[in-house]
Amino acid sequence: MHLSWGPEEVAFREELCAFLDEYVPPEFERGYDYAGEGEGEDGADIVPGWAREWQATLFDHGWMIPGYPPELGGRNCTLVQTLVYLEELASRRVIRSFHYPGYGIVSPSLLEFGNEEQKKLVPAAARGDTIWCIGMSEPNAGSDLAGLQTRAMLDGDRFIVNGQKVWTSYASVAQKCFVYVRTDPDVPKHKGISLLIVDMDTPGIEVRPLRHLSRSAGFAEVFFTDVEVPVENLVGGLNDGWRITQGSLAHERAGLWVEGVCRLDSTVQGLIGIAERYGRHTDAGVRRDIAAFYEQALSLRALGHKGFSSFAQGSSAPEHSYMKMATSEIGKAAAEYGMELQGAYGPVMDPERGEDNGRWVNYFFLSFANTIAGGSSEIQRNIIAQRVLGLPRS
Ligand SMILES: Cc1cc2nc3c(=O)[nH]c(=O)nc-3n(C[C@H](O)[C@H](O)[C@H](O)COP(=O)(O)OP(=O)(O)OC[C@H]3O[C@@H](n4cnc5c(N)ncnc54)[C@H](O)[C@@H]3O)c2cc1C
Repeated sequence: MHLSWGPEEVAFREELCAFLDEYVPPEFERGYDYAGEGEGEDGADIVPGWAREWQATLFDHGWMIPGYPPELGGRNCTLVQTLVYLEELASRRVIRSFHYPGYGIVSPSLLEFGNEEQKKLVPAAARGDTIWCIGMSEPNAGSDLAGLQTRAMLDGDRFIVNGQKVWTSYASVAQKCFVYVRTDPDVPKHKGISLLIVDMDTPGIEVRPLRHLSRSAGFAEVFFTDVEVPVENLVGGLNDGWRITQGSLAHERAGLWVEGVCRLDSTVQGLIGIAERYGRHTDAGVRRDIAAFYEQALSLRALGHKGFSSFAQGSSAPEHSYMKMATSEIGKAAAEYGMELQGAYGPVMDPERGEDNGRWVNYFFLSFANTIAGGSSEIQRNIIAQRVLGLPRS
């Protein structure tokens, strides 16, 4: 079997590399390591100015979402070209945006389910001019999202919204929110949910930032008290919100594993550096452990390619359900191993004294969040058990 990119993909990568060589901002010189960079303690820095400019530059050159047409920040790329794009960015440890919801969730959802007026919001969401947050989780509705209780009552030409969201990433800096609300409490829970576009400066909204372990305030609680939302801000049909949560984000999902695998690669590289600096690189046990993480990263990459190949040929790719769980769990184990290798220095956050300027410990903290955000590992295992292995519901 011969596995390599064809001439078209090679030419595509060359064009991309030329762009990246010229435009990638110097702030990425050391590579983005997902350790909370840019998330200021007061929440003000969550999306720094240079990162906004970078996202706009990508959009203006048709490199923000390559599968989209030029007016939406793309160049009508094929799925395979999109994979090349994601791999190249991830291998350079460069990310497109510091706020994922606008381009990753809101844009594809509005293109699929929004009306013509709502679709006009897409260019600013993809370019990053508008920062969006996603109001799904509530104190009693996370894994069981369909149990959400935030209530929206239709009153003439507006909805009146009351309730609370939690873990809302970017809420402290966002201009708009996708808020999932209960519009009919008298039908089975999946059938009474709707999606509203809510301006975050509407009277009655209160945002209370929540701090991560790493001290940054990346997400928040959001309270709604008699918040008036025009009826034209309803996305899709009334009580049709569940379908949107399950909606086709297929292009994005098909490439999401790439980031997980590349993040794992860079963690393995980090482990090698730590082992060398702490004089553990000649220890046979340490060498074996790091090699095992490397093997796992390589196997996951191969599995990701296999799933991508089925997906590109129009079949479903159950491999991708597994990838999110596996990359985050192995990443957590590798981050913890790095802490162990450092011994007493592991928890030092002081940039002057901590490993990699105190970033490793932040990455270690974040590795827990990766196993929860976007559906916890337990939930992923339930999905794999039922949909992949055909086991009955427990
Ligand atoms: C970094 C980060 C960013 C996030 N950003 C957002 C955001 O922008 N918007 C938003 O709406 N939400 C966001 N979330 C919330 C996230 O979607 C939820 O945390 C997640 O869905 C889990 O819900 P929960 O926290 O309520 O935990 P729960 O659902 O209460 O789960 C608690 C524990 O029980 C386990 N569990 C629950 N049900 C089952 C089951 N049926 N079988 C086995 N085990 C089960 C879970 O795995 C978990 O270990 C974010 C979370 C994180 C960590």
